[in-house]
Amino acid sequence: MSKSSAIGVHMDAGFSHKEVELAYGPAVDRLLKLADLNSVTLTFFVLGGHMKNKTAIKSVKRIIQEGHEVANHSMHHIEPFGRLSYSEMREEIKTSHEKIAEVSGIAPLGFTAPGWSATPKMYRILREEGYQYDASVIPFCMRFFLSYLLFIDRQKFPYFSWDSSYLKRRGSGPPTIIPFPRAGVLRIPLWHTGAFYLSRSVHRTLLRDATKKGGMLYILHTMDILSPEEISLKKKGIVSYWRSSRSLNEKKEILRDTFRLIKTYSERVLKCRDLAAELASGKSISSI
Ligand SMILES: [Zn+2]
Repeated sequence: MSKSSAIGVHMDAGFSHKEVELAYGPAVDRLLKLADLNSVTLTFFVLGGHMKNKTAIKSVKRIIQEGHEVANHSMHHIEPFGRLSYSEMREEIKTSHEKIAEVSGIAPLGFTAPGWSATPKMYRILREEGYQYDASVIPFCMRFFLSYLLFIDRQKFPYFSWDSSYLKRRGSGPPTIIPFPRAGVLRIPLWHTGAFYLSRSVHRTLLRDATKKGGMLYILHTMDILSPEEISLKKKGIVSYWRSSRSLNEKKEILRDTFRLIKTYSERVLKCRDLAAELASGKSISSI
């Protein structure tokens, strides 16, 4: 197993002018500074629909210049993504791809579905569009049971538990799947929101466990590095309580600590495209 990791930032901040400005302005600036300080590489999953905002365009260029990666997170972040028709989904992926390539000068190689709502249809499109990797699978069985118990629309949910056999059938061809990190025997999905509601030591333990499995992609959101005052400008309901109540200094410190731990526990922190290439060269999808 490769002991490489990657760190991904989801740029789905909303579509109001203020939200886009905050995400691509102060949030990206702070993330790039923290990444530089800790010598880690980031992969930003951006929305094609944001690529008309001047701050977003400037930031995407800066992200590339500073040696990080820009990947595709769809045009408009429509949920449930898995419910879109083939042509609607293709349009969401393709139009975004073109906008990102135009702004960054580099064609994105990776994709994450809005809400991690991966479906076989999506993999067909990604293969047709020449995508190298996908990061939309949460291999976590508990959500499968929860969705049944709560009568929730399963296609709305991220993870392939409702059809995990599909992943085995499709084999290990492109796109390479970089699964969501999970920790412990309960395979608890781990992303940065956990750093706000778990104790420091529990978060650290889960992080170490998720990293040692290899091929870990750790996910952050722009709210993880915006102050409560900045977040209060946003629409209600978007931001979780845990993330919105921490001060900016505290958030910076938590993120610095997290970057440092990921570096300590992994052999390398790579761009997602390099992590995917590593996984494709020596891995199967059995870890899912
Ligand atoms: Zn998203």
